[in-house]
Amino acid sequence: MAQVGISLGSNLGDRVSNLSEAIHSLGDARSTSHLLVSGLYETVPVDCPPDSPDFFNCVIEIETDLSPVELLDFTQGIERELGRPDERARNAARPVDLDLLYYDEVELKSDRLILPHPRLQERAFVLLPLLEIRPDLEAKLSSNALSDQGIEKIDCTDWIKSA
Ligand code: ADP
Ligand code: MG
Repeated sequence: MAQVGISLGSNLGDRVSNLSEAIHSLGDARSTSHLLVSGLYETVPVDCPPDSPDFFNCVIEIETDLSPVELLDFTQGIERELGRPDERARNAARPVDLDLLYYDEVELKSDRLILPHPRLQERAFVLLPLLEIRPDLEAKLSSNALSDQGIEKIDCTDWIKSA
């Protein structure tokens, strides 16, 4: 069994509901009840086409018996189910994007999957919610990304339907 951090983002449709649905859909990939869920952050798009809508982002941690690639297949299935087309412009608006941030201490580089996620340390919308659920990782994740990246924590508790 592995502990896995996953970053979720949505900038199309009902963003809160998309994130909530995706977390529910991950239920079948989880091998225990362990579930850490950060608050919701609204973020200005990074590296996206002009006029892209703002994202809602969060980070969760689950435990799974799936291998890293099996879990990627699973999360990509959720992306498709929630309406993400296979062919699209890079970083186009999407109902949901799920990125695997870490899988225990596994380091891996293949065509389909890089672990830990290569852009983990660069992005405030990943780091802030991650440190919220795993403050113990702060010493490991030295980064300048936390300052001024157009990110705002949404003032809402209980945003996720119980998972
Ligand atoms: P982005 O997440 O950068 O907006 P995509 O979601 O379109 O872009 O992902 C592009 C590709 O990144 C996916 O097809 C996937 O195979 C690959 N990838 C590599 N490492 C990871 C990872 N750690 N988590 C998710 N996808 C990854
Ligand atoms: Mg992705």
